[in-house]
Amino acid sequence: MRIIDKIYINGQFVKPLGTEVQELINPATKQVIGVVTLGDEQDTRDAIAAAKAAFKTFSKTTNEERAQMLQRLHDVMMNKLDLLNQVAVDEYGAPAAATAGRTQYAAKNFLHNMEVMKEFEFEKRIGKAKVVLEPLGVIGLITPWNANYTHISTKLAPAIAAGCTVVIKTSELSAIQTQVIAECFHEAGIPAGVINFVNGRGDVVGAELTRHPDVAMISFTGSTQVGRIISRDGAATMKRLVLELGGKSPNVILDDADFHSAIPLAVMTAFSNSGQACHVGSRLIVPEQRLEEVKKLVIKTVEGIKVGNPWEEGTFIGPMVSQKQYETVQRYIRLGLEEGAELIIGGEGHPEGLDNGYYVKPTVFANVTMDMKIAKEEIFGPVLSILTYKTEEEAIDIANDTIYGLSAYVSSSNLDNANRVVSQIVSGRVLINGLYDEPKAPFGGFKQSGIDREFGAYGLQAYVEPKTIMGYDIVPQ
Ligand code: NAD
Repeated sequence: MRIIDKIYINGQFVKPLGTEVQELINPATKQVIGVVTLGDEQDTRDAIAAAKAAFKTFSKTTNEERAQMLQRLHDVMMNKLDLLNQVAVDEYGAPAAATAGRTQYAAKNFLHNMEVMKEFEFEKRIGKAKVVLEPLGVIGLITPWNANYTHISTKLAPAIAAGCTVVIKTSELSAIQTQVIAECFHEAGIPAGVINFVNGRGDVVGAELTRHPDVAMISFTGSTQVGRIISRDGAATMKRLVLELGGKSPNVILDDADFHSAIPLAVMTAFSNSGQACHVGSRLIVPEQRLEEVKKLVIKTVEGIKVGNPWEEGTFIGPMVSQKQYETVQRYIRLGLEEGAELIIGGEGHPEGLDNGYYVKPTVFANVTMDMKIAKEEIFGPVLSILTYKTEEEAIDIANDTIYGLSAYVSSSNLDNANRVVSQIVSGRVLINGLYDEPKAPFGGFKQSGIDREFGAYGLQAYVEPKTIMGYDIVPQ
């Protein structure tokens, strides 16, 4: 049982003024594994004040000093990998094998940003002007529950690289993971006030960060719905915004694709991180005349997927993070049936023998059309919709018929065909014939999937602001 009764302000773990207490539940067992005391508005203001005070000196540190800090932040995470993984599996329920990779990925973010920072031009000449890219100031980092460490490091690393100070508000569901990573960062010996953590509710701590005039930018990852609130409430103080929001990503299988590899890959892509990921390819778009073949391959793949205890070897899908998320997935499965989609595998309820946790059945609907809610709305669970097309043009129209534009996938045995389709898909990231990652390439969404980008130089760019200076080299007569 973990008692999380401290927040991290100005280099110290202190008792919050807030008194609301929330239980933390292991989603694989429904057992209470901890309690967290939530911070309030005044706690948030105290953290912002600490970050503001620290900014004065931190913003003047050298690249070399900040590079050393990034290295230390990486090292402290790597030293505590086992503990970080253990609490992530217990609190979030993601399968252990995937969690281990994700935690290392989160730590590596610090090194990638160190490399990016070393090549970044913080000062440029444009004609007679000197343009200095200055750190923005205090940044509010607000993150969701689905990959706690990754979201924190993705936002914190460029902040440190730029010379900004931060107040971090993670999800209410991730308090144990947040406590452990905060303890890691404390060991990294970063100057007091540069990194602050306040546990708390979104409409309390998150809202105060969004409103506060001393916070220059909010870097937010979460739902499009909350992104809209932050965008609206941040406007009063002209907040800079990085918003990484929802998705309903298309996976277009061209007729010439190798279906025996493309369809299993499409299923795994849709169900990765137990379907609780923003980039999952939750709309599988296939040629109409191949639908029966696709259905058989999908069913065979899903039957081979292990759902269950996240600690067991081979588990690919763990429980949903919470009772609420379990119910959301159930609601969408019911909706799919009511809307007339054809359920080809899965369905409502728990998989057999797994009613001790928030487990859902990996579920696939065929004969889905774009007027159905299951095709339009982000479900954030292992529910896949299959849609069909007659022509390539129609496939592209279906792919783009969404308010989102975060990720997309295309399969074809012919690269010319694949690239032709990719050039017409409106999405921040498109992957051809596989799953790849390039940690220094930008990630983010077109349309209502977000504003601005994370990772690499594009990510760092968001944390600095250009100051144009002229006459700096003209000696007064
Ligand atoms: P959420 O939007 O409910 O919450 C995200 C964070 O915002 C939490 O810390 C929450 O407490 C906080 N919050 C809630 N109300 C707030 C308010 N009024 N002001 C400020 N902060 C507030 O999202 P979630 O359920 O935690 O996560 C799932 C969502 O995150 C999905 O929609 C998913 O697509 C999205 N997501 C996006 C990406 C991406 O990179 N684009 C990555 C992962 C998750």
